[in-house]
Amino acid sequence: MKIGIVGCAGRMGQMLVREVLDSEGCTLAGGTERPGGDAVGRDVGELAGRGFLGLPVGADPKLLFDAADAVIDFTSPDATARHAPLAAAARCVHVVGTTGLGPDQEAALREAAARTPVVWAPNMSVGVNVLFAMVERLAAALDPDYDVEIVEMHHRHKVDAPSGTALGLGRAAAAGRGVRLEDVWQKVRDGHTGARKRGDIGFATLRGGDVVGDHTVVFAADGERVEITHKASSRQVFAKGAVRAARWAHGKPPGLYSMRDVLGL
Ligand code: NAD
Repeated sequence: MKIGIVGCAGRMGQMLVREVLDSEGCTLAGGTERPGGDAVGRDVGELAGRGFLGLPVGADPKLLFDAADAVIDFTSPDATARHAPLAAAARCVHVVGTTGLGPDQEAALREAAARTPVVWAPNMSVGVNVLFAMVERLAAALDPDYDVEIVEMHHRHKVDAPSGTALGLGRAAAAGRGVRLEDVWQKVRDGHTGARKRGDIGFATLRGGDVVGDHTVVFAADGERVEITHKASSRQVFAKGAVRAARWAHGKPPGLYSMRDVLGL
């Protein structure tokens, strides 16, 4: 199976290149970077610390989507939205890990998913996806007297907040309670906020150092508290999940799939 990596010079991009090279039955179709960026023209293998592969980093994603069976995309919301129609036109699997997408960018993925398999997940690690399933069940079992708060910490370079995973955990808790997250979320608190409303789902964001990704979901009631935590210590878990998603989606009918589909959770 031929897998391409858009954004191949990024933190995740380099990890994904190494993961594809190490995956049996997979070949690296190539990599692209932001047009005009320093990485364009350099060797994809050398950038990822794996030595010369004879694959120069491209700046035209269409060529990559046309050549690959699957393209893995951990870039930016704008870039991902521009990649989606290319995946659809080439009938190429699009595995999307990019977070912080707005409604129009999400719509671009949904449109592409009518014509090709798209796997989109805010977190591709197996552990976090098990956590999503557990949080949904906990929220269903614990009534809204249990206040749900989601605390996350990431490295200082992260540009979106709360993290896509934190929002995914919020969505799982809201689903367990049969409500829409958008109706109950408190993404930021500042100043005289008044008392907490029953049923709200709150978020707190920490940024610093090189933290790969920590998430805790707290269910706090009078007299007791349930807390459930996931800590990622290596980005490799996301890269492994993304390659697994690409293999799983290859040959599937068009549709928008999640990591929970890939893992059968
Ligand atoms: P990064 O900034 O290190 O990498 C992003 C790369 O994309 C950069 O090299 C950038 O130049 C490139 N890029 C931007 N526009 C492009 C374009 N038009 N064409 C080609 N390349 C382009 O960031 P990162 O830490 O690797 O994270 C990337 C994204 O992945 C973020 O949204 C992050 O939140 C998300 N992420 C998701 C998961 C997950 O499991 N789903 C895990 C980690 C990170």
